Amino acid sequence: MKVLIATDKPFAKVAVDGIRKEVEAAGYELALLEKYTEKAQLLDAVKDANAIIIRSDIIDAEVLDAAKELKIVVRAGAGYDNVDLDAATAHNVCVMNTPGQNSNAVAELALGMMVYAVRNFYNGTSGTELMGKKLGIHAYGNVGRNVARVAKGFGMEVYAYDAFCPKEVIEKDGVTALDSAEELYKACQFISLHIPATAETKNSINYALLKNMPKGALLVNTARKEVIDEAGLALLMEERADFKYVTDIMPAAHAEFAEKFAGRYFSTPKKMGAQTAEANINAGIAAAKQIVGFLKDGCEKYKVNK
Ligand code: NAD
Repeated sequence: MKVLIATDKPFAKVAVDGIRKEVEAAGYELALLEKYTEKAQLLDAVKDANAIIIRSDIIDAEVLDAAKELKIVVRAGAGYDNVDLDAATAHNVCVMNTPGQNSNAVAELALGMMVYAVRNFYNGTSGTELMGKKLGIHAYGNVGRNVARVAKGFGMEVYAYDAFCPKEVIEKDGVTALDSAEELYKACQFISLHIPATAETKNSINYALLKNMPKGALLVNTARKEVIDEAGLALLMEERADFKYVTDIMPAAHAEFAEKFAGRYFSTPKKMGAQTAEANINAGIAAAKQIVGFLKDGCEKYKVNK
């Protein structure tokens, strides 16, 4: 069996070493395609792979067509919108993610960005504190839960809304569960976004939702850029000088935001929520373990193309 690591943005060496250990202990071979610049290189590398570990790499129908021996793709990370799930199912390929492995890293970044924003991006002027402020967590999954834990350490009042997570699960963490996104945005001056990018959530963070946020509003996005209606957000920020937006996923309209909303807007230069040594290692090794579990024992835990 051949396991391919196909990463445009490579794992840290220590993560690759950990993956190799898992793969070789199972009696499989490890192949590496890193920093590829052309899709043709990926198409060539996948030809004889039985399993592929990816990060943000695109696995579409063309790649799946080329991967004749492929049984499983594991996205080392949480979001798997870079994999064409329908095409994978049609090719009888199992797709998994590695939930929870980078959640603390993303949560720490979200809180770090909150501090950065309320301290006026460290521009030398007096800012505000997080303690006592209302934080709304939009989606109480792996990252959302970690954000709640850290935010409580800051002394924030924590609220959450999740379309699928039962309210009891949220409330047992000492977090107030609300019934809708509308309620959450009305109640909280700070919102931290943790919804996945799905057909339902794309462009759903729009003018109508955001306009109800209290004065001094701060929206923190470590989820996906696609969930934001950028035109609606820009319109609102033009109308409301008190509104700040900080994001780990650079908007398509970054240049416009940076120019128009200087002092109220910040984007990381590239997505870096999961860019920690710990998350890198955890997600890579979890991916390797899941592949071994699937190929040896047929374990389909974490399969996302059900
Ligand atoms: P998760 O799957 O553990 O949690 C997602 C939560 O969203 C679930 O609880 C689900 O019930 C909820 N949800 C789904 N649709 C919803 C809707 N329409 N309204 C409200 N809630 C909804 O995922 P996670 O690990 O917490 O990650 C969340 C997202 O963050 C990922 O999908 C990914 O896009 C993004 N992410 C970004 C980075 C980064 O580097 N910035 C890293 C990891 C994850």
